[in-house]
Amino acid sequence: MRLVLLGPPGAGKGTQSERLVARFNIIPLSTGDMLRVAVAGGTPIGVKVKDIMARGDLVPDELVVALIAEQIDAKEAGNGFILDGFPRTVKQAEALDKLLQDRKLKLDAVIELKVDETALIQRIEKRISDTKAKGQAVRADDDPKILKQRMENYRKQTAPLSEYYKGTGALLTIDGMQPVDKVEAEIEKGLQKRVNV
Ligand code: AMP
Repeated sequence: MRLVLLGPPGAGKGTQSERLVARFNIIPLSTGDMLRVAVAGGTPIGVKVKDIMARGDLVPDELVVALIAEQIDAKEAGNGFILDGFPRTVKQAEALDKLLQDRKLKLDAVIELKVDETALIQRIEKRISDTKAKGQAVRADDDPKILKQRMENYRKQTAPLSEYYKGTGALLTIDGMQPVDKVEAEIEKGLQKRVNV
């Protein structure tokens, strides 16, 4: 099973990704997580992207495409994967198409979580207080001002992917404002219609 999860920051992609990973025994591929590991480890990529991420902007397409290419080829991805936070631009989506075509693979579905912005801001604020309550470090970009920038980038650069994937017939749009279990159930229903699961 090869899936893409689309949705703005705070849409619940992380939660649904975890559930789909368990459901289909596939691996999660989150470019945000990979980049945060690189930043924390001070690797050359980490050094390059640290400031870009901290201000809520997108890192260069080539860089994330290379990260994803490497992961798709790893043997752990043999049973499939779920992409969370990638692609984020039409250029990345085209690069992904090419990567998959070259490997004679295809996406089974692109799951888009639709949510409204006010709710998103409340969700991120909750994520910040939950993280703090657990005594964990808060993400540098989980800040109301930076969040606005991330939302704007989503609207301008990532939202057009919805049209892009509509054209392929792979798009499954779900109301992400519903309770988590309901969102999960609708994704399952949508996948059953589309793929033999
Ligand atoms: P996320 O965890 O998906 O919200 O990503 C956190 C940050 O990592 C984003 O605000 C970007 O700076 C960077 N990032 C993650 N994925 C991508 C991507 N596919 N393209 C460009 N930048 C990305």
